[in-house]
Amino acid sequence: MRVAENLEQIQKQIEAACKNSNRNPDDIKIIAVTKYVSLNRAKEAVEAGVTHLGENREEGLLPKWEVLKDKPTWHFIGSLQTRKVKNIIDKVDYIHSMDRLSLAKEIHKRADGPVKCFVQVKTSDEETKHGLAVDEVLDFIKKLNDFPNIVVVGLMTMAPFTSNEAVLRNCFRTLKELQNQVQHLNLEYAPCHELSMGMSNDFAIAIEEGATMVRIGTALVGEKEE
Ligand SMILES: *Cc1c(COP(=O)(O)O)cnc(C)c1O
Repeated sequence: MRVAENLEQIQKQIEAACKNSNRNPDDIKIIAVTKYVSLNRAKEAVEAGVTHLGENREEGLLPKWEVLKDKPTWHFIGSLQTRKVKNIIDKVDYIHSMDRLSLAKEIHKRADGPVKCFVQVKTSDEETKHGLAVDEVLDFIKKLNDFPNIVVVGLMTMAPFTSNEAVLRNCFRTLKELQNQVQHLNLEYAPCHELSMGMSNDFAIAIEEGATMVRIGTALVGEKEE
């Protein structure tokens, strides 16, 4: 399927989810996750009107960035090794995987100015998911005061891979509640107005629960190519 056709389908689903939850589709940004696909497919996405691209590894980001440069807005969505920060810091607009102080320290050190970050939160007890435990998040954000180049624009989570709607809603609600608590801290460096949640299988539910950025790979640009 062409990206343009997939995009049209996804936009319809977003509109329906917004209707269900009394939200405005203009408040939802679609990030096309291009980690499985070629540069050409990423280009096709940009030509179809996608303005946000997401990659989860330096190796996937750099070759696409070299060609597309700052035409799209770039999101780094994967777990980020401290030693790799210097290679990507001047290429990405958002980092969705802030999960430890050593990473904050390195980003602060390497950046020329404020970096838009999402604090990644573990909202389910799946072993494999990265991120801070829910009860660690407020303290963590308070400590980011030491690193003035870090701006906490929002929270990010990955729900478990399940079709159990109750489990998914529960994860997304947990993140939304946490966002309210962060906003109550009233920290200038943590406006926390965004929620990065929802992927191919669960973005409609995530939107009903308050997502402002959905990260969609498979359903938009497709899976691993041959
Ligand atoms: C791969 C990935 C996605 C997109 O997953 P799909 O199920 O293909 O939509 C979203 N977020 C993160 C962090 C990812 O690694």
